[in-house]
Amino acid sequence: MRVLLVEDDAMIGDSVKLALRQEGFTVDWVRDGDAGLAAASTAHDGQPCYDLILLDLGLPRRPGLDVLRTLRARGVPTPVLILTARDAVADRVAGLNAGADDYLVKPFDLQELAARMHALARRAAGRAEPLVTYGDIVLNPTTREATHRGEPVRLSAREFALLSALMARPGKVWSVAQLQERLYGWDDEVGSNTVEVYIHALRKKFGAALIRNIRGVGYVVPRLDGDAASSEGDTP
Ligand code: CA
Repeated sequence: MRVLLVEDDAMIGDSVKLALRQEGFTVDWVRDGDAGLAAASTAHDGQPCYDLILLDLGLPRRPGLDVLRTLRARGVPTPVLILTARDAVADRVAGLNAGADDYLVKPFDLQELAARMHALARRAAGRAEPLVTYGDIVLNPTTREATHRGEPVRLSAREFALLSALMARPGKVWSVAQLQERLYGWDDEVGSNTVEVYIHALRKKFGAALIRNIRGVGYVVPRLDGDAASSEGDTP
């Protein structure tokens, strides 16, 4: 899950970013409202680049509430979780009225933050239960556990992130650049063939038919009900 953190406090930003990366989130951090608005508005193929936005309200250049109102006015649907000071009740209410999906009061517990982020992502994906399933593969984004035919499969954080993105939208063809975006924040080193390396590892673990390579375009997990999925691998 790719997350945009808009926070001007260096200490909070550092600790939130570190904690979320350990939880397997990809985090980009900007420190003022203008940069937050610009980053939050970016999209690929009409799809927002971020799955979730963590928004501080007291920000330089542009207040968080203004960022939020502008995003919603532009039709950006990305879930927003507001981070507010304890005494700022009016701000919190205004934030929820302006289209925020949830809020946390500072100082907050980082585990609670992660739990609420998972819950928001589930709600945004229209899933009540925390599991992502595809055929006989089950992913639990909260615990980052994977099973295949009921057996546990060990995945690295990035293998898990890559497979979650692909499984969340069967039939969608992802370019390598789009997948890289799911995996790396702005300041992460990216090797040129790393997505391919992770895809290779996932195919070894789940079978080559799980992830198709569309030559010159990218990768796709086929739809389960589509012709592409049934044409292979299940001859009696
Ligand atoms: Ca602030």
